Amino acid sequence: MTRRAIQHVIDCLWELGKLPSINQLHQMFYKLLRKQGFRAHQCKQIYKYARAIVKSARENNGTKPVLKKLSARLDKYDAWLDLENQIVVVKLRDKVFKIRLLHNREYTRKFLGRKWYEVIISIDRQGRIRICIPFRWSYNPYKPRRIISIDINLKKIVIYDGRSVRRVDTRFTEALYLKYLAEEVQKKHSYAWRRNKKWLSIIRALHRRSRNIVIDWCRKSAKYIVLKAKKTKSAIVLEDLVKLWFNTSKKSSTIADKLSRFAYHKLELAIMTKAIEYNVPIIYVDPKGTSTTCPRCGAKLSYTHRLAICRNCGFIADRDTIGAINIYLKAFKTIAPRLGSWGIHPMTNETRAKGGLSKDEPMTVHIKTYTSI
Ligand SMILES: [Zn+2]
Repeated sequence: MTRRAIQHVIDCLWELGKLPSINQLHQMFYKLLRKQGFRAHQCKQIYKYARAIVKSARENNGTKPVLKKLSARLDKYDAWLDLENQIVVVKLRDKVFKIRLLHNREYTRKFLGRKWYEVIISIDRQGRIRICIPFRWSYNPYKPRRIISIDINLKKIVIYDGRSVRRVDTRFTEALYLKYLAEEVQKKHSYAWRRNKKWLSIIRALHRRSRNIVIDWCRKSAKYIVLKAKKTKSAIVLEDLVKLWFNTSKKSSTIADKLSRFAYHKLELAIMTKAIEYNVPIIYVDPKGTSTTCPRCGAKLSYTHRLAICRNCGFIADRDTIGAINIYLKAFKTIAPRLGSWGIHPMTNETRAKGGLSKDEPMTVHIKTYTSI
């Protein structure tokens, strides 16, 4: 009923040239929605929400929004949360429902006593009920003493802390393989798969498994990275790739590109969530030139497959190492003055003995050649 009501308001607003004000919306839809059994504040929510959807669709020059998901947003008037007993009570129109949360206790305990604003309840394609509750969480990142940089690609993530490089294999290729399998099924049955229930469910299951692998792996790795950063009082440095992808998204639409965007996004989100939980600072750096510049002398690198060689100073390393070191250096340049004597720069022992770089000292970097390829 909620979906139908919101869709009805959307349909009406879509026909209008100019969006009505909230007052006008009230006059247009309030009585009608009340007749459908919605309570007073729910009516307001419905037309406000519909207006926001229409507004954003217009701003993006989109087509008329059609709500597919069965979901409803409930505020304090209509939802009641008992985390101690893992129960959410919701009022939908004139009915009351008790829903038990299936998370483990240890997880829900983290949210005890925290402020929440709304409960979003939805029903997925398999008919399962999902509850989403955003909590207020204050984020007070500590003052970093060191930096950990992370370079992410489909096969591995490379972590650099100023001293050593650590590689962690991802499970993204495994997820990619499942996507390829799904695509194979689609190709084999050309258009028939769309109407065939059996093929459709196989394809969906493959995509779902692929997605679960990525999300599962991202959560685990994010926890590992964030706890490692917290232990050494480090800031986590990531490349700000969103802008870059936004510009190139139309060019690259292969499954591998899509999956790496998805995987990067999920990993970033997971790291951010964990970082907020543990108050770990995050720094974003511009990704420009991180894989093409020599970290030692700044010259342009030439590549033989994934091995980079600097013709200027003789520096040799593999692509991922270069990326992680350059990301580290970019962040180092911006926060170096704030790091104090704890900041570790890939520098000579002589500079280290002095306790970090002074401001007017040139950024010369001395890195041992990495040969572990
Ligand atoms: Zn060089």
